Amino acid sequence: MTGSRILAWAACVLAVSVGCASRSGPEGDSDSDGDVHAADSDVVTDDAASDAGDTATDDSLDAGDAEPPEFDCGSTEGFSNPAPGIAGHTEIARWKHDRSAALTINFDDSTPGQATLGVPAMIVRGLTGTWFVNPGTSSYLAHQDRWETDAPAESQELANHTMDHAGAADYADAEYQIGEASRIIVSAYPPSRSPLMGFNRGGGTTWNVTEEQVQSLLEEFHCIERAHSTGIYPATPGETMLTQIGDHLSSGGWADDWGNVHFHGICDPADAVNCVCDTPGTSSNCREYGGGVNNGAVSLAQFETFLDGLITDSYFVDDVWIAGFISAHKYQAERNGSQVVMIPDTDERIVLCLSSPLDPALYDESLTLMTELPGGWISCIANQDGVSTTCRIDGTTAFFEALPDGGAIVLSQD
Ligand SMILES: [Zn+2]
Repeated sequence: MTGSRILAWAACVLAVSVGCASRSGPEGDSDSDGDVHAADSDVVTDDAASDAGDTATDDSLDAGDAEPPEFDCGSTEGFSNPAPGIAGHTEIARWKHDRSAALTINFDDSTPGQATLGVPAMIVRGLTGTWFVNPGTSSYLAHQDRWETDAPAESQELANHTMDHAGAADYADAEYQIGEASRIIVSAYPPSRSPLMGFNRGGGTTWNVTEEQVQSLLEEFHCIERAHSTGIYPATPGETMLTQIGDHLSSGGWADDWGNVHFHGICDPADAVNCVCDTPGTSSNCREYGGGVNNGAVSLAQFETFLDGLITDSYFVDDVWIAGFISAHKYQAERNGSQVVMIPDTDERIVLCLSSPLDPALYDESLTLMTELPGGWISCIANQDGVSTTCRIDGTTAFFEALPDGGAIVLSQD
């Protein structure tokens, strides 16, 4: 292939803006305190009876079960994380599922080929892509259902690339370009979903507003700017994409071991109308035409080779968390800000509280916790807010998912 400088490996410092993250104040829930757990089991029912909010455990207590009630984590002052080597010591995994790196695969400009070829190719392989769309453009509107119905229903992540990819003439235009695209994206998902989304203002655009005004709008509309990402050069063979991204990730070439790449067009060289390549019919340096766009494109076959590698190559399967952009951002921010403490309990349980200074309505990505188990435990169930999952156990460490500020986490043997 002709590919020379195939991927431009700019030092990719992922200085993701955290300015959009609205922070909640200290948890207002002050009715909880540690005294429930100072109680022996024979007086627990008294405490439970005096705590109108804690009814979930009453039934089991009435049944004569000696299990103490769950701690509600409203105030964890005075509690701490046991030292390494002590049962209950807990760490937050660097990336989800204790993977050593994260990879986010982004697509800019909502081109027709992304809608017709790219989205299905990701969905059929169970991969989540992040689609930076321009909802005001004709190429987006030609595939509006794909963007607003099919993609969100299949775990694809939409992100804000402004309405028209045209910058902003003034403040009112900037508010429309960011705010209207945000509104459209939010309404494509269930209301319960966090409104936080990725944002990219569009290459080559001019914004006739101050940077402070842009940042204020991004915060208002819950946008996290994708500050740095590596573009995939159109003629790149799929195997080369895999090798170069894998090598760069595994050698620590990306800040915080988070690789962020983006594609533009995707097209099939056999389609001579919508896909024009330097050597017609081949994947040599193609451009995607159609719907008014003229975007550098990877060929569908090379794109699919890349995706197949992501789901079969042992490095990507075992070591890399491939996630949507905003999921990776949430994980990173939560992991950096959260704290875990252990609440003293019976020998049969480990009770943990995971707290975060971030607003849980926005930052709702589960974190992977790694807890040292007491000697003799050969199984582990993690329960948080009534939801139980089986831990993965490696040696004496249990791995499980938990939500920051999602209530006490109770580990017990199966
Ligand atoms: Zn763009």
